[in-house]
Amino acid sequence: MTTRVAVNGYNVIGRRVADAVSLQPDMELVGVAKMKPDYKARSAVEKGYRVYCGDEKGEKAFREAGIPLAGFSKDLVSQSDVVIDATPEDIGSANKRMYESLGKKAIFQGGEEHDVAGTSFVAQCNYDSAINKDFVRVVSCNTTALCRVLHSIDESFQISKANVVIARRAADPDESSKGPIDAVVLDPVSIPSHHGPDVNTVLPNFPVISMAMKIPTTHMHLHSLIVSVKGTNPTDAQVVDKLSKTPRIMLVASKKDGIKSTANVMDLARELGRPRNDVFEAVVWRDSVKVIGSEIYFFMAVHQEAIVTPENVDAIRAITNSASATDSIRMTDKSLSILAK
Ligand code: NAD
Repeated sequence: MTTRVAVNGYNVIGRRVADAVSLQPDMELVGVAKMKPDYKARSAVEKGYRVYCGDEKGEKAFREAGIPLAGFSKDLVSQSDVVIDATPEDIGSANKRMYESLGKKAIFQGGEEHDVAGTSFVAQCNYDSAINKDFVRVVSCNTTALCRVLHSIDESFQISKANVVIARRAADPDESSKGPIDAVVLDPVSIPSHHGPDVNTVLPNFPVISMAMKIPTTHMHLHSLIVSVKGTNPTDAQVVDKLSKTPRIMLVASKKDGIKSTANVMDLARELGRPRNDVFEAVVWRDSVKVIGSEIYFFMAVHQEAIVTPENVDAIRAITNSASATDSIRMTDKSLSILAK
């Protein structure tokens, strides 16, 4: 069976998910919906994607820009089985009424609250909870990365508590009007930040306490983790071994490979020839992993633009019940050149 997929909202996340969907043998990208006729709309047309206008007021601007429209968002949704809603925070929950009225399944993003769908999703943690659901929320980039590593550690060493400090990229690369340029902004000042509680929407069995700040960079988030375990204290090597065998976690080394910064990680993605230099994996520094007593310490980098791409593809298969978790993750990873584990 081929699943017909609509991508509503075509920028940072929507563009990546549209490209990933178009690579899947069991999916058809029906089209993408966009508000403005900019270079991204033009490039979508050049790729052969049908472009729909997000609202009727925008039609004239597309016509004047010479970008052909296949219709409006409603038409796109009507012609599809599943909608990927990749619109900005809070627009997704407003769009839900349209999806419901047209009887379509939809996948929302991490900018929406858990309640928008009632099921928050990270494929390797809780794929089965999304099977046959009408609505699913793929959690944010930081939450996705935390869920992947914490689920893996919990499976082998039983977590009692996790603490994380997140240095967040201040803006995405094309957001030239956003700051800070020369400051570290505590965001939020209050503790915990929303990230820890958000992990609990997927992994409810241990507390996750998070603190967050914005730093003047555009390419990656950097997490400093301290994870307490209640099983037998593992060795550094056992933790590294477990993480290295877990899907969608990439281990990098500072001493062996000279990867000492997020800039090196992004450069590695260029070297690997990844589309848009995307790093779909949670990136853990192998030589940062240190066990002291019952606490595991390590650093992790998260490519905010890319990490949720495979999760959206798997969420489509879960809500249409068209593949098992293992098969879906394998198919998605192969299509995106993510190394098999
Ligand atoms: P974005 O603002 O870059 O892109 C959203 C696009 O949707 C824009 O082009 C906007 O014009 C368009 N849009 C707005 N209203 C629309 C409508 N009614 N119909 C069709 N299109 C509409 O947002 P993004 O960064 O891609 O984020 C999308 C979602 O993914 C948010 O929930 C966000 O929190 C989440 N997310 C973002 C990131 C990230 O790093 N950017 C990472 C993970 C998750």
